[in-house]
Amino acid sequence: MADLAGKTALVTGASRGLGRAIAERLAADGALVAVHYGTNKAAALATVAAIESAGGQAFPVAADLERDDGVDVLFDGLVAGLGGRPLDVLVNNAAVFGEGIDASEEHFDRVFRVNVRAPFFIVQRALSLLPDGGRIINISSGVTWFAVPEVVYAMTKGALNVLGRSLANTLGERGITVNTISPGITRTDMNAWLDDVPGAPEGVARIVALGRVGEPVDIADAVAFFASPDSRWVTGQVLDVNGGLYLGPKAALHH
Ligand code: NAP
Repeated sequence: MADLAGKTALVTGASRGLGRAIAERLAADGALVAVHYGTNKAAALATVAAIESAGGQAFPVAADLERDDGVDVLFDGLVAGLGGRPLDVLVNNAAVFGEGIDASEEHFDRVFRVNVRAPFFIVQRALSLLPDGGRIINISSGVTWFAVPEVVYAMTKGALNVLGRSLANTLGERGITVNTISPGITRTDMNAWLDDVPGAPEGVARIVALGRVGEPVDIADAVAFFASPDSRWVTGQVLDVNGGLYLGPKAALHH
């Protein structure tokens, strides 16, 4: 659990959901963690407080990644918090959900700005802070291989998968690994329907081999592997972390 002692990490969207669990896990592994958030300062401070009360180190960084200056603002806060140290681990996690084929141009742009444009320019800016042997982990989604009505969101996640493969190949000469995690259906604010729709968790359990909804820690533990030295020979990969989602019928179809 001390694989990241003396290291630093940035987790975007770490105020809530998967990002919070990832930040807590990387801090538990010993990293100083930059807890990025968009607008929910109270939630970000709660993440930092949880990390500190567990004996870890973290600082909050605010930046609205939909805005033109979002990445600049993020790096101003990040560099100040790192105090001259490198950035060893970058986790691009922040994202927004939504938008079907009837999306307005404004809403289409919003999803692409947060989910694709921001991670791209965050990586670009991070390259001068990442040491050789650094780690980049992008959070994608299973919607790249199963269909959902929110086609714009799905398109953004497809772009992230492509980004990871291409980056892995070009950054390999620096020993930087780039991997992608595709969560399945996980209990966060993004999936409020799990609580709102009667029977929803049971319905999810029926299409998941391991028979339950995912929890944020299930994803965070997989991110910790890609952040750790143990993953040194793995790059350019997409790992589904979903309990076995849509593996097929659980009983024979011919009965
Ligand atoms: P969430 O609970 O909705 O949290 C989203 C996070 O992103 C928050 O920290 C939020 O900050 C931040 N964020 C949103 N818009 C932002 C903006 N414009 N600027 C800066 N930060 C912004 O989401 P989640 O379910 O944890 O999802 C995390 C990642 O996992 C996403 O990439 C998502 O696509 C992916 N994923 C989730 C699931 C799932 O089942 N939950 C499945 C597959 C993939 P504030 O708190 O400040 O708003």
